[in-house]
Amino acid sequence: MANHNNLAIEARHLVKRYAELEVLKDVSLDVHEGHVVSIIGSSGSGKSTLLRCMNLLETPDSGDLTIASESLAFSHARRHRPDRRQLQRLRTQVSMVFQQFNLWPHLSVLGNVIEAPMRVRGLSKREAITLGEHYLERVGMADKRDQYPAYLSGGQQQRVAIARALAMEPRVLLFDEPTSALDPELVNEVLGVIHGLADEGRTMLLVTHEMGFARDVSHQVAFLHQGCVEEIGTPAHVFETATSERCRQFVSSVA
Ligand code: ADP
Ligand code: MG
Repeated sequence: MANHNNLAIEARHLVKRYAELEVLKDVSLDVHEGHVVSIIGSSGSGKSTLLRCMNLLETPDSGDLTIASESLAFSHARRHRPDRRQLQRLRTQVSMVFQQFNLWPHLSVLGNVIEAPMRVRGLSKREAITLGEHYLERVGMADKRDQYPAYLSGGQQQRVAIARALAMEPRVLLFDEPTSALDPELVNEVLGVIHGLADEGRTMLLVTHEMGFARDVSHQVAFLHQGCVEEIGTPAHVFETATSERCRQFVSSVA
């Protein structure tokens, strides 16, 4: 069982700039093992950048990050940059699901799911297939294993992307607006899968505009505004008794 006293993510004073633009100003955030934390906020507030810093698709300019037991300290000094082995370890522990699915079009469904377990985790093809079939079953896509992404609906593609993330057996799952690219009638099949993962006690950091869903599955909700965590707390707090006027306005505007 997950130990709720352990932190899967501990971010301290993260700063990220693109040239002049300070996209993350001073972000600190904890995610306990087995918890779901949702990040909400308007477009451009830095939500994706924060998530991308968590698996080092972006390198923060300063701050400290401990994620899945890998501790990283960032500064402009080169010696603070994570070395390749640390990066490799982190990437096996943290998996991300993107808004646009990002499946490889030239690989079948199963091919998409087994690629990283073989290449990054070093599993044999046979082991990876067993694992891949298990997770495709988990997201209800086992019968499409030999299909190519172009022949699938957006909801099916996203479920395959979730199976691909699960096949890394990561300690932390990151979701960046996983249903924003979907036709409305396909949203629920994906939210249902993510809800099931939350019920299993998986550790997840989730950017979403689905407020009802965030409220349902989250232990904590963080409202990001211009690169700062402006409000954080339980869903009941953030959605009902937020102290930040901006947060209250945002929540009522999207509800
Ligand atoms: P959100 O996901 O909340 O919409 P983002 O993290 O995508 O916000 O972006 C925050 C800000 O950073 C925006 O102003 C965006 O234009 C800028 N930004 C994001 N990525 C880059 C990049 N690679 N280069 C320059 N600016 C970027
Ligand atoms: Mg975004």
